[in-house]
Amino acid sequence: MEKLSVFWFRRDLRLEDNAGLYHALKGRSPVIPLFIFDTNILDKLSDRSDARVNFIWNEIRRIKQELKSISSDLIVRIGAPLEIFKELTILYNLQAVYTNHDFESYGIERDHLVNDYLKEQNIGFYTYKDHVIFEKEEVVKDDGKPYTVFTPYAKKWKIKLNSKIDKQDNQLSYYLKSYPSEKYFDNFKKFKSDQLPTLKSLGFCYTTIELPGTVVQSSLIKNYEANRNFPAIQGTSKLGIHFRFGTISIREKARKAMPLSETFLNELIWRDFYAQILYHFPYVEKGPFRQEYDRIEWINNPKDFEKWCEGKTGYPIVDAGMRELNASGFMHNRVRMITASFLTKHLLIDWRWGEQYFAEKLLDFDLASNNGGWQWAAGCGTDAAPYFRIFSPDAQTAKFDKDKIYIKQWVPDYNSTTYPKPMVDHSFARTRCLEIYKTALKSF
Ligand code: FAD
Repeated sequence: MEKLSVFWFRRDLRLEDNAGLYHALKGRSPVIPLFIFDTNILDKLSDRSDARVNFIWNEIRRIKQELKSISSDLIVRIGAPLEIFKELTILYNLQAVYTNHDFESYGIERDHLVNDYLKEQNIGFYTYKDHVIFEKEEVVKDDGKPYTVFTPYAKKWKIKLNSKIDKQDNQLSYYLKSYPSEKYFDNFKKFKSDQLPTLKSLGFCYTTIELPGTVVQSSLIKNYEANRNFPAIQGTSKLGIHFRFGTISIREKARKAMPLSETFLNELIWRDFYAQILYHFPYVEKGPFRQEYDRIEWINNPKDFEKWCEGKTGYPIVDAGMRELNASGFMHNRVRMITASFLTKHLLIDWRWGEQYFAEKLLDFDLASNNGGWQWAAGCGTDAAPYFRIFSPDAQTAKFDKDKIYIKQWVPDYNSTTYPKPMVDHSFARTRCLEIYKTALKSF
């Protein structure tokens, strides 16, 4: 039987500038591309019209078509990855499996299982950095310890980026160079696979949510610094979902954005920052980075939580954000900070409840960034907002949506008789929050 390699797509759904795919194609054996609709993940999704499953399905269809146009194909399976690999090793003479790194706890466990099985079969399992620009120990303090504060991390990140420059190639950092997988497409195995399973056969239906595209005008990036904080303006890229599923290359976007906006580049560094926090401190997935914050006596009132989820708190900027999220799967970053602060500080609801709700709803949900954002808002994270800084929804509105354009877009009943009264008084909530946090943290 012909010796073959597998390239396993996960959160890197593209054929171009894909590190793992590049290495697979440069290897000795022809490559069969594989995607697994992982039932361990799909079975946990409560919404059968989950827009992210729709997004992945569309992208898988696109990749399959692209591969067919060069006489290759994409094997698409539904099931638990270990079981799928057991089947594939019976069907094919596999030499190696290539894929890209994943640092979420489920991904690490899944990869261990698959790696152990493949090792028993004498099949290599090779993984690469693709999802971020720097990972693991690439950007650490001089003593080798991980950074837990963003500003010095970002400084070292930039030093590292500029430490390896290609003078022949417009001073481009080697770390931002493409992996030209497309040069080696001849090494895809020429074959035909089964048809793509329908969304219905996966147990899902079509969504009506509009999915954002990959094109971002350079004027948006140029004006990013000035516009990014105003939710009524289309001032941010909405690329989150593409970074999440790897439908665009982080290296390519960083390369294009760098000359246009340092602030935009900094946001991409935040993404790397939170990814390395999750890698070095995996316990943050379950609990606060600052463990003393576990002593906070949350009120956790389910009715209050429901009002927050539905956007019926009586605070228009909070309600606009939650309604935007529920209707579109997106929420502007400024408003994510306001709604998260409101839940944890005004309502004293455990940040993990909000984190979970965002995880279900956000198209761009990314465990590391979502967890980092929530812990920041609750005050318990690495580079967190101090607990005594409590956002006033009205002051935030006056600063970032003073003409209430964003509010009116998402809260049509604003100022009408049916719009709810504020569910809690701001100054009462502020004082209560300070007392509860202070009591919990007193002995530290
Ligand atoms: P842009 O402003 O155009 O930024 C470009 C890219 O930079 C983003 O797509 C994202 O990949 C990255 N980025 C920007 N800001 C941040 C940040 N603060 N932290 C990490 N990366 C950043 N981001 C996610 O990608 N997934 C999440 O699940 C997520 N949950 C969040 C939860 C809370 C409570 C908060 C406060 C923030 C969260 N963020 C999350 C960060 C940020 O809000 C989003 O990345 C951003 O709003 C996405 O919109 P955009 O693509 O238009 O971003």
